[in-house]
Amino acid sequence: MKLTKIKRSGKQSLYGTFLTMTLVPLLLFGLITTIYSSLSLRRSMTDQVHGELKNVADAMLVTFDAVYPGDFNVLVSEEETLLYKGDVQLSGDYSLIDAMKEKTNSEISVFFYDNRLLTTITNANGDRYIDTGASDTIMNEVYHAKEAKFFDNVSIGGTRYFAYYKPIIASDETTCVGMIGIARKADMLRSLINTGTYKYLVIVILALLITAGFIISFTSKIVLVLQRIMDFMKELADGFFYKTLDPIVMKRTDELGELGKAMVKVQTALRRQIERDPLTGLFNRRSGEKRLDELQNSGKPFALAIGDIDFFKKFNDNFGHECGDEVLKTVARVLSDSMAKQGFVIRWGGEEFLIAFADASAVTAAVKAGEILQKIRDTKVEYNGQQHSVTMTFGVAEGFSDQPISGQINAADAKLYEGKEGGRNRVVV
Ligand code: GH3
Ligand code: MG
Ligand code: MG
Repeated sequence: MKLTKIKRSGKQSLYGTFLTMTLVPLLLFGLITTIYSSLSLRRSMTDQVHGELKNVADAMLVTFDAVYPGDFNVLVSEEETLLYKGDVQLSGDYSLIDAMKEKTNSEISVFFYDNRLLTTITNANGDRYIDTGASDTIMNEVYHAKEAKFFDNVSIGGTRYFAYYKPIIASDETTCVGMIGIARKADMLRSLINTGTYKYLVIVILALLITAGFIISFTSKIVLVLQRIMDFMKELADGFFYKTLDPIVMKRTDELGELGKAMVKVQTALRRQIERDPLTGLFNRRSGEKRLDELQNSGKPFALAIGDIDFFKKFNDNFGHECGDEVLKTVARVLSDSMAKQGFVIRWGGEEFLIAFADASAVTAAVKAGEILQKIRDTKVEYNGQQHSVTMTFGVAEGFSDQPISGQINAADAKLYEGKEGGRNRVVV
């Protein structure tokens, strides 16, 4: 299907409207679901990290208590602050937290009050971030509130972390001595979320492309069908009554197909109007001449006959013009019934008919004309309770495909004249 065929320069097109109508909501839908899925992915991954960090914090505290019984405490001197648990000095001993880091892929810090005295977090030189503080927010929301809390954006040494802080309560079960902080780098998670979102985005884009492909092909088809109907109607409006409507329209069983078929009916009706004689329904002289040309151009043998009703003027005078019309209609019907599939009949003049015999010699045409004449004689026309009948005279001539048709019509006419002169009611070849 060629899209260029249905482009309309500078004008609003149905194609564009259809596409906008379907593709814009589709794109919006894709965009919204992508954003939503990215957000919910972020949320669910954050929740998962939250849970994991909490488990590490709990496990770390339980391990500390199991390995080093007693409360956390500090020994403060002028040079340094040393962290103790029970009687054991923890400062300088990173074995437990390093092992935990190894196992859980999480950074671990132990604060006494707001002072980070044990940590697995190191700077670029490999030095641990000890003796650094916790922010006011963390102090307020965890230490003072004595509540564990998850933060999704904590900066430690310039790096962003997801972090879970849990207060360390002394064995009196009321005093908060410090906090344990478990952290994981945020960019790692962010890249996971991004990968997830990209994957989703690729799926959405693929789905959009496939859907768009369907819509475009579907729309093109519909618009093409409308275009064909439009072309057909333009031809009709311009007076071309012999164009055929594209089969892609006629084959459709939907409303568009019906529209096409209705237009073909309009064409047929219009054609009838211009081709046919209104009284008899036969071809009129103008369309008849065209058909005669076609018959001659076919190169096949043919013959012509001109038939004229005898004494028709007198008939009209005696029985009236309307009665004459009835006779004309009846004669026309007898002629066309007799010629079905063997040729065609033209109303050539007032009470004159031209009969074209396809695939026939003058002799066979004359025989056929004789049969027709007999039928005319036998036919009774009822009018005002009276029965009427007429006779006709036929002049027959051979047709030649290499000579002008007018000469052959004149020849038939001459024979008709002969027949009239010779007493009428006969066939002359
Ligand atoms: P001929 O046997 O020599 O043919 O005599 P004719 O009277 O049939 O010939 P003429 O040509 O003198 O008259 C033809 C008549 O046909 C004249 C006209 O009134 C009549 N006629 C022509 N067209 C119509 C028509 O549409 N309806 C009726 N009722 N009569 C028609
Ligand atoms: Mg006549
Ligand atoms: Mg006449």
